[in-house]
Amino acid sequence: MLFIACATGFAKVVYLAPNGSDGADGTIGHPFATLPAAYKAIGGGDTICVRGGVYRVDDNQVMKKDKGYAYVFALEKAGTAKRRTCIMGYPGERPVFDFSALMLDGKWRFGAFYLGADYLHLKNFDIVGVPVRMKGHTQSECVSAKKGSHCIVENLAMHDGMAIGYYQTAGADNLILNCDAYNNYDDYSEGSYGGNVDGFGCHIRNKKDGGNVFRGCRAWRNSDDGFDLINCDTPAEFDHCYAFYNGFQPAENPTDTVTFLNAGDGNGFKAGGWGMSPTATKCPAVCPSHYIHHCIAYLNKANGVYSNHHLGGNRWEYNVSIRNKRDNYNMVNRLSSLAGDNYDIDGYGHVLKNNVSKEPGKLHISNVNWVDSKLEGNSFEPGGVDAKSVFITQAELLAPRDKDGNLKPIELNLWKQQ
Ligand code: CA
Ligand code: CA
Repeated sequence: MLFIACATGFAKVVYLAPNGSDGADGTIGHPFATLPAAYKAIGGGDTICVRGGVYRVDDNQVMKKDKGYAYVFALEKAGTAKRRTCIMGYPGERPVFDFSALMLDGKWRFGAFYLGADYLHLKNFDIVGVPVRMKGHTQSECVSAKKGSHCIVENLAMHDGMAIGYYQTAGADNLILNCDAYNNYDDYSEGSYGGNVDGFGCHIRNKKDGGNVFRGCRAWRNSDDGFDLINCDTPAEFDHCYAFYNGFQPAENPTDTVTFLNAGDGNGFKAGGWGMSPTATKCPAVCPSHYIHHCIAYLNKANGVYSNHHLGGNRWEYNVSIRNKRDNYNMVNRLSSLAGDNYDIDGYGHVLKNNVSKEPGKLHISNVNWVDSKLEGNSFEPGGVDAKSVFITQAELLAPRDKDGNLKPIELNLWKQQ
């Protein structure tokens, strides 16, 4: 018998299928039709197993409205460390949740999946078509991580919509593993700019929710940044993530490597900062040091790897940044968090170790204070790693994941050294 649950233990498992019925009992032979019906039938620590196929989601399925957001699937039943509350695609099948029919009279931001409790696990499905229906400076989100800690978001593909992929503002020790966010572009709320649509964002506005890790994730053709940590008060980690073609409009042909029409900011990895307003920033007394390592930034519209006016140093190690239109590494910091100190200065306190830069649009590295930062072994300094021996093809970046969601390893000389 195929064992289906995210964890061992005595989890109840209910099933969802496109040809199911909400009057059914949720067994594998009589599955539910909609996720809200399946969710009603489980408790914390149980599993919803979703059969392959397309699920068309409409306004009637919206489960929660809060502070201007309509959260479609609001997940608020906590699991435990041993038994997470789980929504997973049936092994070997791939469900697709299509949110493009959401309307709600154009009065709400949308969050397709709301993480509102601890120990949740989302795994193995697609989120497509999440819309933006409002004008002005607004956004929608495929995964809205607003409360839960110790959650795992695994092997999701969030694409071909107008929303940010994964967006977190609270919660500690979440793991975002092997997820893709691509072809996301809001061409409605503020004209054709798409300036809020990042692939992945972590913006924790409190001092306790640290330890969030993004591992094996890819962001491409998102109209703003690939990965964004602006307004993040606790340290976050990007590990083996790829950001490419961000800041451009989606391509009609997913393998298009030629057409690049400008959209939003377009940094690959934007790590830190609280903005450049002349008022005092909300940077905590201890500025978080983010850790970005074994990542690849390739042909983004602006900088590949970017410290975004941060107020302290980050750790950047074993990254590869190639062909970004501005600088491959831009370490610019803000002078201080005080009102009136909204000036750029060369980045201080950064640790840059064994990073590679090739073919920058402008500079290999910019705005770094070589005395107040620690640089060692980078290709852009004497005696550093040899950039000439590092090759990455666009086909490698776009290669399909294996059945468990793992990226096909890109063998780089500098990553083998560890
Ligand atoms: Ca932006
Ligand atoms: Ca952004």
